[in-house]
Amino acid sequence: MANICVVGGGPAGAMAAYAAASCGNKVTLIERNEEPFKKLLLTGSGKCNYSNSDLKSDSYNFGQNHPFWKVLEELNSDWLEEFFKEKGMLTYKKDSLKYPRSERSDTVKKLLSSMLLEKKVDIVTRKKAVSIKKKSEGETNGEYNKEAGCFAMTFEDGEELNFDKIIIATGGKAYPSLGSDGAGYRLARELGHKVSFTYPVLTRLLTDDKDLNAVTGVRFKAKVTGEVDGETIGSEEGELQFNDNALSGICIFNLSRFLSKPLEENAKCIIIVDFLPEMSEDELEEYLEKIPDGEIGRFFEITFGEKTAALLLKKIKDENRKNAKDISYIIKNFRIKITGHDSFNQAQVTKGGVDIDEVDENFESKICKGLFFAGEVLDVDGKCGGYNLHFAFASGYKAGMSAGKEI
Ligand SMILES: Cc1cc2nc3c(=O)[nH]c(=O)nc-3n(C[C@H](O)[C@H](O)[C@H](O)COP(=O)(O)OP(=O)(O)OC[C@H]3O[C@@H](n4cnc5c(N)ncnc54)[C@H](O)[C@@H]3O)c2cc1C
Repeated sequence: MANICVVGGGPAGAMAAYAAASCGNKVTLIERNEEPFKKLLLTGSGKCNYSNSDLKSDSYNFGQNHPFWKVLEELNSDWLEEFFKEKGMLTYKKDSLKYPRSERSDTVKKLLSSMLLEKKVDIVTRKKAVSIKKKSEGETNGEYNKEAGCFAMTFEDGEELNFDKIIIATGGKAYPSLGSDGAGYRLARELGHKVSFTYPVLTRLLTDDKDLNAVTGVRFKAKVTGEVDGETIGSEEGELQFNDNALSGICIFNLSRFLSKPLEENAKCIIIVDFLPEMSEDELEEYLEKIPDGEIGRFFEITFGEKTAALLLKKIKDENRKNAKDISYIIKNFRIKITGHDSFNQAQVTKGGVDIDEVDENFESKICKGLFFAGEVLDVDGKCGGYNLHFAFASGYKAGMSAGKEI
């Protein structure tokens, strides 16, 4: 039996602790907050969109050749659904998005808590890990000294405890008010790991285009394309939301994964809105040509609603566009200059983190034996729609099983 410590009481840490304890080990779960799962409770607007049936390697920043993808092929969305079902939680699917059947994130919290209780995981709350050192005297010829423990962990209150193995599942830097403030990166660096620069993603994109004030509060189904220094970086379709000096909606969140870094590097970032993606530019031109003079304003209002119509018509007037071809072009290529993104305080996910090339397919460090990572502390970010929680659950399970194996 090994003495294993999991740092971080989020979905990744809970799964890791459960899996490691299931293998018959003594497991301690350390959480700095007064209780685990603070962030989990807010996910999916309180409904917890825990996975997605459409898991693809390009839903994440690592490619299909990375060993993590092999893990997700095995621990896929069906696996997680079955896992939860077996533990007593039914789930349901809306399009490809998966939720607990209760549509309540506290159901997932209760389930995970009862699983940890069943496996006698020692949950220690209000305890922040601030330093981890590998003890050389605890290791002989690659064997672990069970009595001494291989790792010495120091806490904010000054206490020091020894463990045979450590799983770092401290999350990233997004929403630090919920506990994930990047502390895990310091622990990883201390143990010799590279940590890449971090950016807030799955955020709103900011603009100072004053014309957009007229459409504040408007939601419109559109296609949005991101452009960085003249190069297209991706397109998404969905509901575009205009807020005060910001664009929002899942389609924008997904593009933020590719725009946060260039924005911080002062690149020229543009969102191009196609307000009628279901028609080609030529089809729209042909349709507009048939509209009698004087009725174009009515067409705009009927098709786009009053506020969006006013926005488009102003642009057409400002740019002195008169013929059907030019008007069609504006409707399908409405360019908005992006000036920034929300901070970590409002972002859902962190891009960057512990270098994933220094971690093997068992989520064990290639640099420090006995050290494992799981969840968002790793340099892994996924699309909006259950992908990030899925990675937290699957990587946590894999890391816990790997660490839990007999030593
Ligand atoms: C508002 C919001 C909504 C979201 N909705 C969704 C969604 O619907 N679907 C989806 O897939 N993803 C969603 N996400 C993203 C998802 O919540 C995260 O990717 C996921 O929680 C990461 O899990 P984790 O266990 O790695 O980290 P976290 O959930 O961040 O958990 C890490 C835990 O470690 C603790 N901790 C940190 N440092 C220390 C330390 N030094 N010592 C002790 N404890 C420590 C923290 O307090 C925290 O409890 C959302 C995120 C936010 C902010």
